[in-house]
Formats: sequence, structure tokens, C-alpha cells
Amino acid sequence: MAIVQVHDKQFKTYISNEAIQQRVAALGQQISADYEGKNPLLIGILNGSFVFAADLFRNISTAAEISFIKLASYKGTSSTGNVITAIGMEESVTDRHVIIVEDIVDTGKTLHAFLPDIIQRQPASLSIACFLSKPEALQYDISTKYIGFEIPNNFVVGYGLDYDGLGRNLPDLYTLVND
Ligand code: 5GP
Repeated sequence: MAIVQVHDKQFKTYISNEAIQQRVAALGQQISADYEGKNPLLIGILNGSFVFAADLFRNISTAAEISFIKLASYKGTSSTGNVITAIGMEESVTDRHVIIVEDIVDTGKTLHAFLPDIIQRQPASLSIACFLSKPEALQYDISTKYIGFEIPNNFVVGYGLDYDGLGRNLPDLYTLVND
């Protein structure tokens, strides 16, 4: 088991890059079959999803497009709470088959706040693909169709996920040594 230091914390290997690649290939095949002839538009949420999105996209064998956005949060009215909107959404999603690509669905708060923005643009269909999901942490009703791995409620880094900016370039996924 490899140990890496990121800032002040030690992390140990949790899911190898080989296992990740196998799982991402299977997700790509599933998406290819589900979206054959539909030219889906993948929308990767930066920064965390860029590694997963790149691998997933290369495993999609039917015609598909990809674009990336950042999310910005601002205070809505008291009834809507925090609203999250997309920065850099250049492609029109109206009438497109959209697949949101996320690194991890933790509480689900981010997607819960952001999905209305996509829905009001009237895509032909909408689904979510995430590399990781933490079912124990989920607090919102988010239905994720394509999940790489379900993991316990522990902090992870690597494969695009960071700890305070560092660790995104680790090819494997790591978890805290003391968890
Ligand atoms: P949510 O809104 O679902 O609670 O959180 C989603 C975001 O929190 C993810 O896109 C990710 O950036 C961050 N996040 C949640 N859990 C982890 C984790 O274990 N490790 C890292 N590096 N980021 C996480």
C-alpha cells in the first residue's frame, strides 16, 4: 500500500488506477449503448471532474460532445436559498441529451442547487454521471444514473480530487490513513 503526504495529512491507496480504468470503461460502454445516435452533450463540472471526464469521454464509442463549466454560488431569495449557476456555458443545452459529469456526489447540495439552472434550459433529457458517490452523506434527492464507485463517508483525494489544491494529479484514489 502506497502512502502519500498531501499538505499536513497522510493518505493511503484506496482504489488503484487500474481498477478505476476498468470501471470507467464499463461506464463508457453503458453510456455508449444508452445514447447511441443521440449525440449526448457531456458537461463536466470543474475543477474536480476533469480527469474522470477525460477518461469517461475516451470510453464513449458513439458520437458525443463535451464541454466544461464552473459553478458559482450566490444568495437567492429566502425561498430559494443559495442558487448555483454555471459559468462558461457556451453550448446550448436546449433539446440536447445532457449528461452532467461530477467528481463526487457527497451531500448532493451542489447538484440540487444547480440542476434547476439546467432544467430551465429545457434539455431533451438529463442524467448525471459521477466518479464517486457517498450514499451515507446524501442529504438531497439526487438520482445519479452512472456511478463509478460508492464509497463510505471518508475524505478522498487523487484522480482529479484535491485536498486544498493538491493531489489532483495522483493517478490512484487515496483515503486518509487514520480513517
Ligand atoms: P456536495 O455538494 O455533493 O456535498 O459536494 C460536492 C463537492 O464536494 C464535490 O464536487 C467535491 O468537490 C467536494 N467533495 C466532497 N467530498 C469530497 C472528498 O471526499 N474529497 C474531495 N477532494 N472533495 C470532496
